[in-house]
Amino acid sequence: MKQSRALISDGHGGYEVQDISVGAPGPGEIRVQIRAAGLCHTDWDSIQNWKKRFVVGHEGAGLVDAVGEGVTRVAPGDAVILNWAIPCGTCFQCLEGFTHICEKNSPVCGEGLCGHAHAGATLEAGKPVERSFHLGTLSEYTVVREQAVVRLDVPMPFSSAAIVGCGVMTGWGSAVNAARVQAGSSVAVLGCGGVGLNVIQGAALSGAVTIVAIDLNESRLAQAREFGATHGVLAQREDPGYAHMKAQVADILGGRMADYAFECTAVPALGAAPLALVRSGGTAVQVSGIEQVVPFDCELFEWDKIYINPLYGQCNPQRDFPRILSLYQSGRLKLDELVTKTYTLDSVAQGFEDMLAGRIAKGVVLLGEGG
Ligand SMILES: [Zn+2]
Ligand SMILES: [Zn+2]
Repeated sequence: MKQSRALISDGHGGYEVQDISVGAPGPGEIRVQIRAAGLCHTDWDSIQNWKKRFVVGHEGAGLVDAVGEGVTRVAPGDAVILNWAIPCGTCFQCLEGFTHICEKNSPVCGEGLCGHAHAGATLEAGKPVERSFHLGTLSEYTVVREQAVVRLDVPMPFSSAAIVGCGVMTGWGSAVNAARVQAGSSVAVLGCGGVGLNVIQGAALSGAVTIVAIDLNESRLAQAREFGATHGVLAQREDPGYAHMKAQVADILGGRMADYAFECTAVPALGAAPLALVRSGGTAVQVSGIEQVVPFDCELFEWDKIYINPLYGQCNPQRDFPRILSLYQSGRLKLDELVTKTYTLDSVAQGFEDMLAGRIAKGVVLLGEGG
């Protein structure tokens, strides 16, 4: 058993740092000493809405501390990045190549123990406690399945590695894997926070020539340009029928709307907005995971428009994380610049406050030495 400080939420809006015990890894499992954990809007939502106790956090990177029987992919001392959609490798979806929607993991069930990482691996006052997405990265130690990590072979700060596991993957993958942005194309990106900036990076690396960033905040538009946006549109808070942003995008593109548009705001009223920004036959992508009931004008789908709602940038972690890391290593994908501010477990409230106020692209909590 390892003693570990961890951020535990009651799922009703409360959270606090508690001491937990983390057991030895069972067969096929590994214990990770977490060194950095990214903060994500999903963490905030889960703290408000999951209505049960759990260890918070689903973005993380650290060092393998111990491995269970049969583990071959990593060894103690290896640096790793965690992934929250943990594929089984044998179900229908995994065999079809869609490991992000593995049928046996149900990554977004939010119900916790789906039989992953043995019960008792994580104890709070002697009782098992669930972990966000079977990870619980806001803890000094965690036990996860071997399939929940990718080895980190590139020299880089843990703070930059941690964010690859959700925000970077979701944005970059939505452009590269899901929309498959073509060279020479035009792209509109609505919302330039951590995920939106990575859609922009993915689109730019795919060869899009015009990338229009749209945001309510001037400073975020300026940052979007540093990540590859060619144009910026200052959005209006009230914009009936998306008329303002539509006119601005049409003006920039010389009449025809964009080939691709991505929604990265999590604002329900903007769920249909990417449809308004694409040409006939264009691809509208809802990246932010809006789940509310939203009235849609079906005319927005005319003509031949495609609307997709990819999960986790259609992540295949063993394939995609190394691609992202080699782009970073070659200087073509920015990660260090995304980490606006770092925190400790004790200052995590400030991190959530900065995130919710839109003051940071990504906030990262450092654990262990330096945390
Ligand atoms: Zn996330
Ligand atoms: Zn599977």
